[in-house]
Amino acid sequence: MYYIEFDTDFIPNKEADILVIGSGIAGLFCAITLKNLKLNPILITRGIGNTYYSQGGIAAVVSKEDSTAWHVLDTLRAGRNLGDVKNIEVLAQEGPNRIVDLELYGVNFDKKEDGTFETTIEGGHSYKRVLKVKDYTGKAIYEALFKKAKELDITILEGELLEIITQDNALVGCVIEQNNDLVFWRSKFLVLATGGAASMYSHTSNPLKTRADVIGVALRRGFLIENPEFIQFHPTVFENTNLLISEAVRGEGGILVNQNNERFINELEPRDVVARAIYKEILKGNKVYLDMRGLKVDIKSRFPTIYNFLIEHNVDPYKDLVPITPAAHYYIGGIRTDENGETTVDGVYAIGEVASTRVHGANRLASNSLLEGVVFGYRAAYSIALSKRGFKLLKAKNQRNSIKDIDCQEYFENIKDIMWKYAGLERDEEGLSYAIKKIKDIIKICTLAKPTKKNKIIFDVGLSAYATLQGALKRRESRGSHFRKDFPYEKDEYRYNTKICLEESLDSIFD
Ligand SMILES: Cc1cc2nc3c(=O)[nH]c(=O)nc-3n(C[C@H](O)[C@H](O)[C@H](O)COP(=O)(O)OP(=O)(O)OC[C@H]3O[C@@H](n4cnc5c(N)ncnc54)[C@H](O)[C@@H]3O)c2cc1C
Repeated sequence: MYYIEFDTDFIPNKEADILVIGSGIAGLFCAITLKNLKLNPILITRGIGNTYYSQGGIAAVVSKEDSTAWHVLDTLRAGRNLGDVKNIEVLAQEGPNRIVDLELYGVNFDKKEDGTFETTIEGGHSYKRVLKVKDYTGKAIYEALFKKAKELDITILEGELLEIITQDNALVGCVIEQNNDLVFWRSKFLVLATGGAASMYSHTSNPLKTRADVIGVALRRGFLIENPEFIQFHPTVFENTNLLISEAVRGEGGILVNQNNERFINELEPRDVVARAIYKEILKGNKVYLDMRGLKVDIKSRFPTIYNFLIEHNVDPYKDLVPITPAAHYYIGGIRTDENGETTVDGVYAIGEVASTRVHGANRLASNSLLEGVVFGYRAAYSIALSKRGFKLLKAKNQRNSIKDIDCQEYFENIKDIMWKYAGLERDEEGLSYAIKKIKDIIKICTLAKPTKKNKIIFDVGLSAYATLQGALKRRESRGSHFRKDFPYEKDEYRYNTKICLEESLDSIFD
């Protein structure tokens, strides 16, 4: 189904060979590669996404002492053996070359005096293979790629993808809002690089521009969504903001305490274990703090972004405890793709966090997501260059019935609360079933609401939440980032990728 009202006969029509949606690492890298291949992408974006906020770094095997086999094994292990070995091999093997490309495009990774990369180690890696630019790697990558895209004369437009127009499971084009007007963009290829969906939780490290809505659009248009139940929670986000306080802070000696100054967990346990321990403290009514006062390094020079943000919020980490909460951080599942980013809809590619390449399995190895964006962004560009596809000439329109004067804004907060309470760090059958009922009610109300952009986005976030709840309900085991209180162990029979498609999602909502 479509949500907004449009008639392609009566809105401006434009044509593009290739539309890339999203200006994070995946979209920008793909567009640059396409342009280098003498193709003509047009990039449309809502603005800055998760890439800009990445702090830690990007993983790749760049030293002779390291090996791609180890990178593959570490990735598989972190993903609790659910990862796709073939795609993980692609990630590890092609990663180093994409790092060279990033350098060529102007990213100045930290280097040692002898000119080799200054790499660091993060949880789950068996070797120091994380390349970084101080604690603002993502910002450095974003700025270099954006500049490169401009230098190459790639057309970059502000706009929002609202609907993907398909016919017989093949791309026709999409409806984009630009300058408050709807435009029908007919295109031969569409690359979705729209980021993840972790922002559908009330506590999240994600900025608002990645709103989880495109997963909802994809569900409505019959794309296959995979593993939506796997959401990675980060243990330490500065309370009431989306500022993530990197794992490296705990690596450098930061400790976790409650308001009674009691330590309750070994801070260097895996991310999900630490996050759940903090969550349990909070459930007990305790407040949790990160104590950075005893760090082995100088806070200001090692963590300038974190330091400046905390100071702006009147917390001096040299003197004060930093109030923190766990938060939804990374959307592991997504739109199913093959090893070249091709989705199940002809002509449409998905890359970066919005895609499910299955490289992360049930849990993402730290710093593998920026890498996924460049490796599969590159492969998607080459796959498009090899494909031949014409324009499909369908005209399309959508009208809506039963329109009531409802503003869905209030339901947005409800969705986020429901997800946090019932599909958060700990889940169980009762809570998930209750949440499904609640989300269904919200979706049904949004279906009757006026077809405004705001209502549409909330409707789509609701669908995205629904997919996560369904996946979490079906997976009656605990694996990686998915923890079920009622099934706290891994079960071999669940070693498969969850698949959610249109029939299961929309039909079951409206039955
Ligand atoms: C705080 C934080 C720290 C992180 N640290 C690391 C790290 O150290 N290492 C690592 O590997 N990963 C890290 N991650 C994860 C990593 O940042 C993301 O997985 C990665 O940047 C995703 O890149 P992307 O290009 O897929 O999406 P994004 O960078 O999120 O970009 C998505 C783009 O799509 C646009 N968009 C979305 N919807 C629409 C729409 N409907 N219409 C038009 N445009 C749209 C957005 O405006 C944006 O431009 C971190 C994430 C966060 C939030």
